[in-house]
Amino acid sequence: MVNDFALPIIDLTLCSGCGACAAACPEHALMMTVDSQQPAFVEPYACTYCTECEAVCPENAIHCPLTITWNTED
Ligand code: SF4
Ligand code: SF4
Repeated sequence: MVNDFALPIIDLTLCSGCGACAAACPEHALMMTVDSQQPAFVEPYACTYCTECEAVCPENAIHCPLTITWNTED
């Protein structure tokens, strides 16, 4: 990772532009671009890494390879 937060990985070469990922995103972190009709992270810090976008993609173009765990100890 080059940033300090996790984002799903989207392979735009596999994307058909269906918009399912953007429609499923509960945080509106992901939206379709008007010009290219491809998903883009418009609010990346809003992403909770819930993996909904990965689950709905019919082209298997989105991957969330990280496992988020919370440290509940002090
Ligand atoms: S992982 Fe969840 S919050 Fe993040 S872009 Fe995908 S659907 Fe939205
Ligand atoms: S759900 Fe998959 S195929 Fe559809 S727009 Fe999103 S990345 Fe592209």
